[in-house]
Amino acid sequence: MSYNKRLDGRKFDEVRKMHAKVGIIKRADGSAMFQIGDTIALAAVYGPRELHPKFLQNPERGVLRCNYDMASFSVTERKKPGPTRRSTEISLVTEKALASVIDLDLFPNTVIDVFIVITQANAGTRCAGISAAAMALAHAGIPMKDMVAAISVGKVGDKIVIDLDKEEEDFEEGATDIPVAMTARGKEVTLLQLDGDVTKDEVMEAIKVAKKGCDEIHKIQTKALKEIYKNE
Ligand code: UDP
Repeated sequence: MSYNKRLDGRKFDEVRKMHAKVGIIKRADGSAMFQIGDTIALAAVYGPRELHPKFLQNPERGVLRCNYDMASFSVTERKKPGPTRRSTEISLVTEKALASVIDLDLFPNTVIDVFIVITQANAGTRCAGISAAAMALAHAGIPMKDMVAAISVGKVGDKIVIDLDKEEEDFEEGATDIPVAMTARGKEVTLLQLDGDVTKDEVMEAIKVAKKGCDEIHKIQTKALKEIYKNE
């Protein structure tokens, strides 16, 4: 089925309006907010700190522990508070998307806790959470080999589009959603999920489009991080 014009009038490769701010939670070691369209993610980093209970400690390397949560007021139909299978999965893929840029060998026996809260959701929340968390980790002073940004790409009707909103995700019989996380310099893909039907060529095209989106996010992340040090 052909999809000739996006429902909100954006170009097929146009990302929603973005905004980022670093240093939003004073008590955290690092924190950041990332907004993309109506989706807002907050991230707070605590640590590295001693991991309890002790049997979970690894004398060789630190542990990165991510917790993704969607506030009950973040969606139109109130979300029941507490963890779900979806939030457990997103926490896990977020950990994987971020772990490769952190040198955890530097922090044996410790944990770096990353809490992500979605305060407003209109699709793309796992990606917004990863983009916010990467800034919060940098703000916490955790040595990072590279920066990470994430964006969702997908297939709506017959078109590959970037940064789907909820209305697009639900379009007709449902879009194919492909969240992608990528490092800024290395251009390494640290997250790639796929929910739906696409051909190999379409996946390759989607990754190309995602790269462009991640480059835009990287610029916003860098600007937000520079901003905080300018004001301190
Ligand atoms: N959503 C919702 N209630 C829920 C979970 C999700 O309304 O309990 C909406 C929300 O807008 C979310 C979207 O569905 O952004 C897509 O969710 P998905 O699981 O695909 O993850 P996301 O795209 O947010 O990473």
